[in-house]
Amino acid sequence: MPQKTDMYQNDSELLDELDRLDRISRQLEISDSERLETIKATADFADKFIGGLNSAKAFNKKKAENLNLNGDKSSLRDTLELYRKEVAENGINAASGKHLGYIPGGGIFISAIADFIAAVTNPFAGEYFASPGAATIENEVANWLKTIFSFPEESVGILASGGSISTLIAFTAARDKHRVKNEKIRKSVVYLSEQTHHSTHKALRIIGLEDVIIRTVPLDKQRRMNVAALALQTESDIANGLTPFLIVATAGATDTGAVDPLDAIADIAEKHKIWLHIDAAYGGFFILTSKRELFNGIERADSVVTDPHKGMFIPYGVRGVLIKDKSAVLYSHHYNANYMQDAANEELVRSSSNLSPELTKHFRGMRVWLPLKIHGLEPFVACLEEKLLLVRYFRNKLRRLGFQLGPEPDLSISYFRYPFKSQPDERNKRLMEAIHEDGDVFLSSSVINGEYVIRIAILSFRTKKETIDAAAAMISRCLKKEIECDLAARTV
Ligand SMILES: *Cc1c(COP(=O)(O)O)cnc(C)c1O
Repeated sequence: MPQKTDMYQNDSELLDELDRLDRISRQLEISDSERLETIKATADFADKFIGGLNSAKAFNKKKAENLNLNGDKSSLRDTLELYRKEVAENGINAASGKHLGYIPGGGIFISAIADFIAAVTNPFAGEYFASPGAATIENEVANWLKTIFSFPEESVGILASGGSISTLIAFTAARDKHRVKNEKIRKSVVYLSEQTHHSTHKALRIIGLEDVIIRTVPLDKQRRMNVAALALQTESDIANGLTPFLIVATAGATDTGAVDPLDAIADIAEKHKIWLHIDAAYGGFFILTSKRELFNGIERADSVVTDPHKGMFIPYGVRGVLIKDKSAVLYSHHYNANYMQDAANEELVRSSSNLSPELTKHFRGMRVWLPLKIHGLEPFVACLEEKLLLVRYFRNKLRRLGFQLGPEPDLSISYFRYPFKSQPDERNKRLMEAIHEDGDVFLSSSVINGEYVIRIAILSFRTKKETIDAAAAMISRCLKKEIECDLAARTV
């Protein structure tokens, strides 16, 4: 088949065509003045958005429209306006301090600047050879995480995008270290609890361990894993010829914030040589606060995951995973390819591409490194301590409004329900719907001990005493409405 390039028999035609293409493709490298204008439009957008956060609702429900791509051009200012309407002010406003559902974080501004700088310079962070600086920044953030959790220097630390990927990396290392494959899968036992995050089950399935035996260890009154029950279960499994393989403990459960008794669980893991994985996605950074004791034993784990996009208020998309057994991680992820030969001589573990499924990746270390450089650690710790106090302040308020509260929280999540005399589940659900309808502050619900509960998760750096006052006022307003509606329904 004749190719289009065959048309250019002489250089002058070819040069003409190159000229034409150059004029069009140059649009991608905008001029100095356009660049300034672009930055200014973006800064205006950011100022207006952040300045309006206090008065904006935390939750809006509408369909997203007009976001299709049809190849046409439009201006940045118009497009940012579209973004504001359809994205920034639609759904849960996760940047708002009034987002108190699921697990919020907020998204500190310096991290956004870090993303900007990372994208402008675009270093290849996955290979030390390609960008010693970017790879070192990633490793320094990982090293910093190791010191927080008292992990040894020679353990590996990887920055992944979020929950599932990092859990996947840790479990794959556990699987390969314990050689859990073929007929061994059906005899291997994983211990977790009812409070274990669903990403755990998902990761096991993805890495081919769907058929392991799963033991759901009961919880105690504080909603923590019951260690005596775990001990009994492992002993009886061993007696029955099964192989305890993995314990998944949680340091800060998503629903309740409960921290499992890590040290006692580590005793059991150590005794039977079971891989201990600790999910500290939400709770991890509270180890830097007055709650430190709750985390005793975390340093004994084989792997720990924690989310800077939660407890460090970084925008979504960065999760740290620490794994003690370097060779298990390399066994699963290190790969040699001819086209990578220039990079092969570097020390393997300095390049994250040998430690994770990713090769080319977002330079996400920058979004943790820059805020720590610019702010130092102190305001992060103060912010976490503040959240611990705010949850107590909130509970005091709700108690006065007549609500039933869940147990004294380990960290900054709590739950509650109103003791309606009849149909309490249904009516608390209606109360939740009224709260979503109101939208000033966003809360979410769960089912705990078979009962419908409303939960509050205080973790955004923008959540302040005034936010909690607004939340309590909103809950009181919605409760009043529910009681009035119910009375009206009965008198009809
Ligand atoms: C949020 C959370 C996860 C999931 O992590 P992502 O970073 O959101 O993917 C896992 N476990 C716990 C305990 C969590 O709170």
